[in-house]
Amino acid sequence: MELENASWIEVENYLKKPNGILLSMGSTEQHGPIGLIGTDTICSYEIAKKVADKTKMYLAPKIAYSSAPFNMSFPGTISISDKLFKKFIFEIISSIFSHGFSFIYIINGHGANINPIKELIVKFEKKNIFFKSWWDFNEVNKIRKNLYGAWEGMHATPSEISITKVNYRNITSKNLLKLAKIPPQKLSNSYIKNHSGDRHGKPEKHKELFPDGRVGSHSYLSTKKAGRKLLRASIDEIVKDINKIKKNINNN
Ligand SMILES: [Zn+2]
Repeated sequence: MELENASWIEVENYLKKPNGILLSMGSTEQHGPIGLIGTDTICSYEIAKKVADKTKMYLAPKIAYSSAPFNMSFPGTISISDKLFKKFIFEIISSIFSHGFSFIYIINGHGANINPIKELIVKFEKKNIFFKSWWDFNEVNKIRKNLYGAWEGMHATPSEISITKVNYRNITSKNLLKLAKIPPQKLSNSYIKNHSGDRHGKPEKHKELFPDGRVGSHSYLSTKKAGRKLLRASIDEIVKDINKIKKNINNN
């Protein structure tokens, strides 16, 4: 059900009934010594692909570029401004609605996307746009908490690294694993409070504070098994959410 694998006539037929589309977004940024640069994009896309199958919805091409300025001191991070990101997503959403899709369901994997997207959605007040990060559900959070407790941390979390291990690369370099095995520094409550929504300040200062790129997250604890569990839970919750939305739209 990937849009890039469809022909326009198939999409035209799909739109003869009220039907929505999925859009997944992440980031391209460092995720610690054993986390992949594409972690956020991979997590949301892996979930979105399964959700698309289960709900028989089209899935638009993934959004991998977004704002992650605090990680710019780490090689490999690619960051665009919030302003450009919002404009880019605005035009994508406008295109989608111009074809008559009845709703857009966005699945997010990057904390810093939350505020810009929320600000953007307000501009489409008469349209149905739903926005969820893959960890937004109680069932998913229970698993994260049970598996990792405080070691989940704020960036390069063992949960997201676990999800990438299911179908993507599992970094096995001895040197990198050795580095990841050293627990990251524990975060204070005030740090967590002041830096929510991925606001981690200036890049040089951020790297000075968190030299291996992990913000309180002990990614060494990530496993494929945990990834499967998290994937399943997030997919189930999003499918339930979408079924409710479809029911509401069909009743109106
Ligand atoms: Zn991430």
